[in-house]
Amino acid sequence: MVDICIFCKIVKKEAKATILFQDDQVTGFRDVHPVAPTHILIVPNKHIESLNDLMEIDKTMIGHMFVIARQIAVQEGIYEGGYRIIVNTGPDGGQTVFQLHLHLIGGQRMRHPLG
Ligand code: 5GP
Repeated sequence: MVDICIFCKIVKKEAKATILFQDDQVTGFRDVHPVAPTHILIVPNKHIESLNDLMEIDKTMIGHMFVIARQIAVQEGIYEGGYRIIVNTGPDGGQTVFQLHLHLIGGQRMRHPLG
């Protein structure tokens, strides 16, 4: 699965993307079809299909993903105004790329997703 995963290819720089952040655990890059002025994806460097596949051992890494999301929000100038983080999980959750990712979305006032 890792061989055909587009996000894993982006992590390994085998596919093109605008990478904003990368360390030994996670990578952050711009979504190719942004739904807001700022739309960034934060993914683990290792292949994890979805939140359903998260293991106990991944606890530190998942926390790191959120810390990096906040750091990128600062860099992108959306920290003060606020932003939204979304994790679509499985077909009913709207997940279309089966590599765990946080959507970091901001730069405009959004309607409440449940409202
Ligand atoms: P999901 O629907 O799985 O929650 O989100 C997948 C996201 O990945 C979508 O917002 C889609 O625009 C983005 N995406 C899909 N393929 C690519 C790609 O090749 N490069 C980048 N940068 N984003 C992608």
